[in-house]
Amino acid sequence: EQATLLSVFDGSGQLADGTALALLANVGGAKDAQAAAAANAQGVGLLRTEFCFLGHDTEPGHDEQVAAYKGVFDAFPGAKVVVRTLDAGADKPLPFLTDSTEPNPALGVRGYRTDSTTPGVLARQLAAIADAAKQSAAVVWVMAPMISTPAEAADFAAMCATAGLQTPGVMVEVPSAALTARHLLDRVEFASLGTNDLTQYAMAADRQLGPLAALNDPWQPAVLALVQATVNGAIAQAKHSAALATEDSAPKPVGVCGEAAADPALAVVLAGLGVSSLSMTARAIPAVSAVLRTVTLAQARQLAEQAVAAASAAEARELVRAALPALAELG
Ligand code: PEP
Ligand code: MG
Repeated sequence: EQATLLSVFDGSGQLADGTALALLANVGGAKDAQAAAAANAQGVGLLRTEFCFLGHDTEPGHDEQVAAYKGVFDAFPGAKVVVRTLDAGADKPLPFLTDSTEPNPALGVRGYRTDSTTPGVLARQLAAIADAAKQSAAVVWVMAPMISTPAEAADFAAMCATAGLQTPGVMVEVPSAALTARHLLDRVEFASLGTNDLTQYAMAADRQLGPLAALNDPWQPAVLALVQATVNGAIAQAKHSAALATEDSAPKPVGVCGEAAADPALAVVLAGLGVSSLSMTARAIPAVSAVLRTVTLAQARQLAEQAVAAASAAEARELVRAALPALAELG
């Protein structure tokens, strides 16, 4: 039974009615990327660059960075690879960027914020990403973690332009970013929801604390509402720019790259909320793909509406799971 539904992913994510949804991989380096390519991932939705440098006491040099990024890009010629700039701090400390004496590291100088305390590292990383992109055939997009305001998005976009990187984006993993997505997307080309941190910050529950696991659940309706707000922001931004007659009216892409995307039932909800790609650990792709293929966009939208309106994470999860018989076949 498992073998019939969980066949090898054929490389095209879609719903039962043919609605396309890109299924991408989260990777930490070249080895992961090669495994993801072998699993037919349609590209990389999250390259966690800090994983290339864990254990480094000092900033990696230009050539070392170029080699690390190129190793990932070369696994996906012609496909999209979304590089996240260094997300140092809190659960991912890097000695050359983070202050280990901060009282509240999750609320501290982490991710994009390190550019103001340690200027230069981000600009040099962007230069290395640009060089690696030039030497490969991947379609390279780049995004900053822990963006909280439109001004930060604008500054990041300007740095990407200076480096010659054409497609800047932001992660949406802070509630303020979800609630101002329209203004963020006026300044960058795409957004990617990091549901791990978005859940941590929406619920004010440290993601590393076991006793808070029930709060740290991306099925929490408050988290789903923030996903919905982000997609609505993208739609509003597209309408506004179309009204100004500057561009066509297709919303800019909003994807998900947190662990939520690897839960097949939650993937259906995210599709129904209107995200355009899901990025996950490569081994989760076959099950997510199999379940997505059993629902139409209209059905996914209805389930998403019910999940957002639920009074608890458990209620949301139960009602969606009950509507997806394909889950039982996955075992
Ligand atoms: C997230 O926060 O959801 C995310 C994808 O980033 P990380 O887990 O690396 O913080
Ligand atoms: Mg994160």
